Amino acid sequence: MWRSPYYNMLGVIGGSGFYELLEKLEEIDLNTPFGRPSDKLMKGKIGDAQVVFLPRHGRGHKLPPHMINYRANLWALKKLGVKKILAPSAVGSLDKNIAPGTFVVCDSYIDRTKGRADTFFDGPEVRHISSVSPYCEALRQEVLSACAKVGVPTIAKGTIVIINGPRFSTVAESHWFSSLGASVIGMTGYPEVALANELGICYANISLVTDYDAGLHNEGGLAASSAVEILAVFKKNLENIKKVILDVIQNSRAMECAECLKKVELSKFN
Ligand SMILES: [Zn+2]
Repeated sequence: MWRSPYYNMLGVIGGSGFYELLEKLEEIDLNTPFGRPSDKLMKGKIGDAQVVFLPRHGRGHKLPPHMINYRANLWALKKLGVKKILAPSAVGSLDKNIAPGTFVVCDSYIDRTKGRADTFFDGPEVRHISSVSPYCEALRQEVLSACAKVGVPTIAKGTIVIINGPRFSTVAESHWFSSLGASVIGMTGYPEVALANELGICYANISLVTDYDAGLHNEGGLAASSAVEILAVFKKNLENIKKVILDVIQNSRAMECAECLKKVELSKFN
């Protein structure tokens, strides 16, 4: 069977520890109509699959969440033919039942960022993308089955609150987010997801819980974690996410996703 060179092209935003897994590694320096991505993109093969990695914060973690050029990042991945994006990110827990070390594969989000460029369509072309299912359901299921194989504690659904940062939430803000029923909180998930939606790229969030958010400290004995404890959880999460992503890459087979492309079709306004 003939296969396009972009067959099953997968993108991973984050995870600089993955480069060693790639064969025939190629560094790609791209400019986009929206400026430069966070860093060079690293393209290579893992088995049959073509994979592109992009460090969200740039190598050396130089870009804070509010300074990331999300549009350039997504545009660059699309340009290289990426059809699916796995987006792991470290988060805090807003729910006392979601312990550090858990992965949450979110199915919705609450955007609390401000001033971030969050659409490719500033006119004259106008789009209104549906956000009913912002995270690709098919890709979410692939991630969930990989998490089960790896044996990492996983929550199959949840809502992530994305704050602007770089500061963390106050106790009052954190209580408010928990009272809304949100599961986890981070600073980078938006507008990444909305931009992927606009481009018809399947996108799955994998929230890696490192600690409890401010509102849960001292509640039910959930004291704030020390830096040493957080680092230990962070490292364990990294080990697990590597295995999960490798499993998704090796088993992901679908070429196009009708659901995510349909969203783009329905978003056309003029
Ligand atoms: Zn999809």
